[in-house]
Amino acid sequence: MTVFGCRACVTALTVPVSKVALPVHAHQKYGNGPGSLDPVLEPGTFAVDPLPSGPPWRRWEELEPGEAEALGWYAPRFSIPDGPAGRVLLAPGDVRSAVIDPALAGDTGCCGLDGSQPNMRCATCGTPVATRIDDCGLRNAVWLDPLTSHVIDDGRGPHSILDWTDLIDQRPGIAPAEPDGAWDPMWVAAAASALAHLLAASGGHPIRIPDQRVATILQPTLDRLAAPVSTGPERTLVLAGPGIPAAGGDLALVPQHPQTGELWPVDPSLKPVPLAWDAWRHVAFHRDPKPVGRSAPIPPEAPPPLIPHSRLEPDGRIFLNVLARLPEVSQPWLRAVYERGRPYNYSYYIFGP
Ligand SMILES: [Zn+2]
Ligand SMILES: [Zn+2]
Repeated sequence: MTVFGCRACVTALTVPVSKVALPVHAHQKYGNGPGSLDPVLEPGTFAVDPLPSGPPWRRWEELEPGEAEALGWYAPRFSIPDGPAGRVLLAPGDVRSAVIDPALAGDTGCCGLDGSQPNMRCATCGTPVATRIDDCGLRNAVWLDPLTSHVIDDGRGPHSILDWTDLIDQRPGIAPAEPDGAWDPMWVAAAASALAHLLAASGGHPIRIPDQRVATILQPTLDRLAAPVSTGPERTLVLAGPGIPAAGGDLALVPQHPQTGELWPVDPSLKPVPLAWDAWRHVAFHRDPKPVGRSAPIPPEAPPPLIPHSRLEPDGRIFLNVLARLPEVSQPWLRAVYERGRPYNYSYYIFGP
């Protein structure tokens, strides 16, 4: 089991937890409604952000020449995170012996804690060890600071690693529709990330998507973004992964393992385009219920529709964030797509009508 503790006094700061891959929606900000979003992680798990993340933030214009590329950014940003690499994400309920210090919380949040600086202290010795986030529109989270916390007991923890077959049986994924019929925020994030990877892998060629479900998620935005600037022969995007027969194509939408982060291995002739497991599982295996005849009464609490009625608008922040970290964004045509986010300071992206 893995337990994290305070570096200064060795107090345990978490319950035993198991490592999972950092989800694409780990840093998501979504919507304008009151309250924070559900935690990204399941109880009993943790994820590590291997890249510098969180505050302080450095303005792009103040970076030295070549510094951005050295830090893994290939297109301009308003600012980039210069916090420590290796921050540890947890569900807040798994944290122990750390308390929020109002004096550290800052006043930049809206309704809650926005995570602008570490705001939780070790309850034993008072060292700032973590950042609690619960502001409106943000994912409920605790991020442990790797400079003041570390692993004090190492092991697998409560969740064993599932193989791909077990994943299909035991991890059904997240339904696309929320009870009100809107797209689930995870899908909005997963589609944004997949879209950025797909554009980078396409090399600027038009993309054909024969699978109707995949097309529902990606085609409308692809048409708006890439169709006007794509040239050359078509590239075909097929679905690939456990439990489905291999299909011929140029690009493959493959699942990312939610625990190990590995991508489903495909033939070298296919370029993999990763999609979060919790979305991929639904795309690959969920089938719409058979239509019910008109004479059948509608049950009072009908389940939400599988595919929401509205068009999926991918998360613009996550799209820009993922794209800016792919070296392919240096290609002029893709840089032009990226630059359409410019009026929004490279922080938002409006995909257009
Ligand atoms: Zn608020
Ligand atoms: Zn301590």
